[in-house]
Amino acid sequence: MTLLLQNGQIMTRGNRLIKGDIWIEAGKIKAIGQDLARSQKFVKIIDLKEQLVTAGLVDLHVHFREPGFTYKETIKTGSLAAARGGFTTVCAMPNLAPVPDTAQKFQDLKKLIIRDSVVKIHQYAPITSNLNSDDLVDMSILSKLGTPGFTNDGVGVQTAGTMYLAMKEAKKNKRPIVAHTEDESLLFGGCMHQGVTSEYLGLPGIISATESSQIARDLILAEETGVHYHVCHVSTKESVRLIREAKLAGVKVTCEVCPHHLILTDRDITKDHGQFKMNPPLRSEEDRQALINGLLDGTIDCIATDHAPHGSDEKNQSMTQAPFGIVGSETAFSLIYTEFVKTNTFTLEQVIDWLTIKPAMILNLPAGRLEIGQPADLAIFNLTETYQIVADDFLSKASNTPFLNKEVLGQTVMTLVDGQIVWSKEEMLE
Ligand SMILES: [Zn+2]
Repeated sequence: MTLLLQNGQIMTRGNRLIKGDIWIEAGKIKAIGQDLARSQKFVKIIDLKEQLVTAGLVDLHVHFREPGFTYKETIKTGSLAAARGGFTTVCAMPNLAPVPDTAQKFQDLKKLIIRDSVVKIHQYAPITSNLNSDDLVDMSILSKLGTPGFTNDGVGVQTAGTMYLAMKEAKKNKRPIVAHTEDESLLFGGCMHQGVTSEYLGLPGIISATESSQIARDLILAEETGVHYHVCHVSTKESVRLIREAKLAGVKVTCEVCPHHLILTDRDITKDHGQFKMNPPLRSEEDRQALINGLLDGTIDCIATDHAPHGSDEKNQSMTQAPFGIVGSETAFSLIYTEFVKTNTFTLEQVIDWLTIKPAMILNLPAGRLEIGQPADLAIFNLTETYQIVADDFLSKASNTPFLNKEVLGQTVMTLVDGQIVWSKEEMLE
């Protein structure tokens, strides 16, 4: 099968934007150039009408909820949501039921992924059995079975000794520790950021140190063990400061930030509603500015969504009752493009970097490169027309996001995985 994507604005590796065509054959990029239709007879030609073509986006942090919570999301619907957002490679968290903490459970889950996913899923294994124990999983066998790293995302590793032993074992197996950092002894039943809004709404607050103090502990342990330590969803200015200092000191640390923490603060929480509840919570404006600056100076390495679908009944209640998390796969690029590229805070090249090659490099994933010979994993975006984020359009089972009804640019119009169209706006296929 030969496919020609004609007349695109192509963001090639090295972030050069060129006008031209992409020749796809046997699932790979065979050529990039001008007027390629002249050199070959293609089975199919799609006119991109000068829309942006990038390498398929890479997300290091999604929750697909299967097995165990398929009323929230499945591998099928989660992967379709990723595709609709332009993501072609994602890393899925292991807070499932059962937790894939043994070779057998991990392999069973991989079978479901192969059966149902429309994008490339790299499944994380947990650090400890059942996510909440202090018993390390068999990192050697789970590494051989393909986990890109070890994470208990959803909960922090509470005991320093357990984290230390986990880091030593992960290092031996050449895998990173991917950390959700949250010291539960500093949680005090909090459900949103401790600040003016939590006081105004009369809700229990989560202090920034709940996150940053565990990062401080882990950075010292990472220095001691030499492990690659990746911090999930950094949200506070203290976390950014600590990671910046650790990088300068030579600690092998990387980290990610979520679109919602870059765009919203606790001041955007207008009422006590579960739609605003996520972990970590929306922080202060100072924190938000520190996250933006952290991306710009290289302290923060990439953007990840923490796509966390929940049922509408679960989220449609007080923040004290609702579960933590919002969906993010289908809105990430549009939100970042609209909020930061259109306002000249970030360049398009930076944003594409943070959503493709940078996350791929963190976990050594074979993804994020638009170049000849690479798999034809591509995303095409419309940068000129505004559209509205509408729950009914979501391919995710869930629509729990505070960004509903927002007008944005940067709609995904087509996504290809290994040269196959896995998502497309209908008009692109006419
Ligand atoms: Zn988390």
